[in-house]
Amino acid sequence: MTSLDDLPIRDDLRGLTPYGAPQLEVPVRLNVNENAYRVPEAVAVDIVQEIARVLPSANRYPDREFDALRASFATYLGHGLQPEQIWAGNGSNEVLQHVLQAFGGPGRSLLSFTPTYSMYPLLAQGVGMEWVPVPRAEDFTLTPEAVRAAIEEHDPDVVFLCSPNNPTGTAIGLDVIEAAMEAARGIVLVDEAYAEFAHDRSQTALALLERYPRLLVSRTMSKAFAFAGIRVGYLAAAPAVIDALRLVRLPYHLSAITQAAALAALRHSGEMLARVDQLRQQRDRLVDELAAHGLQPHPSDANFVLVGGIADPQAMFSALLERGILVRDVGLPGTLRVTAGTPDETGAVLAAVAELTAE
Ligand SMILES: *Cc1c(COP(=O)(O)O)cnc(C)c1O
Repeated sequence: MTSLDDLPIRDDLRGLTPYGAPQLEVPVRLNVNENAYRVPEAVAVDIVQEIARVLPSANRYPDREFDALRASFATYLGHGLQPEQIWAGNGSNEVLQHVLQAFGGPGRSLLSFTPTYSMYPLLAQGVGMEWVPVPRAEDFTLTPEAVRAAIEEHDPDVVFLCSPNNPTGTAIGLDVIEAAMEAARGIVLVDEAYAEFAHDRSQTALALLERYPRLLVSRTMSKAFAFAGIRVGYLAAAPAVIDALRLVRLPYHLSAITQAAALAALRHSGEMLARVDQLRQQRDRLVDELAAHGLQPHPSDANFVLVGGIADPQAMFSALLERGILVRDVGLPGTLRVTAGTPDETGAVLAAVAELTAE
């Protein structure tokens, strides 16, 4: 049988392993920052009705421009955004890939401040561009000065700023984004996958779009809208940027079912954001109580907490798994990342940690 090594695969893909967090069927799953709450019954029913409405026309290709969905995202985001400033894809990962296909590629570079989202180097690799990781300060914060200096030194074609940042939970101020815009000659994308979970939701890069035509802001329905299984991400930028992304997308990339499901879910944004508020409380509870157990949780504006001060993260990971609790070892020394769950799930992980740290 032929193995991967025997295939005439691209040289730059040889020896790589695909992205993948463990998908284990355990009672408490707090490892990939999913929304802990299931899709509410009423929302699910509305989604099914919307899908039923479009299904008989499934012999036709879907609306290639997903006009209704773009209008709906523009309304949801506010900030005076118009539908022609909106893009969407099957998860924000696809949207980020579109951005790199249009503005990156061979001979170009992508700069990010690490530790950050582990998909960025893989997305860069996929389009054959160079990945430039620049380390953050010890406490994972970023200053306008540090960002300006890094961009001036490396002169990247694309900058990805993740805020709130995965896996650290760190949010950046608008002054940091302004510094990036002033220093960068290329595209600056702010990945706001966790924006709805921030303590101060007004600190969004959407507020700067009017001033900077090379600024892109990506969001996802995976986290705040409990929609990880449906795959919908989106982006706001100048209309010309959207035109650039059209050049690289596959035709009809958003199925009629996906468009219908997202449209229906967006009609329930109030309900979904109320659940986000409950998750924010559990996130804050994790930070407070883990600190009381003598650990070092990092401040977080996302739906997860990076917990430092763990003597043996691998042992703690295994001990939690034995108790039916799955968290994430992101490979940062002395840390584990824990997603905020329902009150019961959060209580379970806190009780287990209390027991393990007392030993
Ligand atoms: C979860 C996450 C995403 C979203 O991915 P989807 O493809 O929309 O599910 C994007 N960026 C970051 C930093 C994330 O953590």
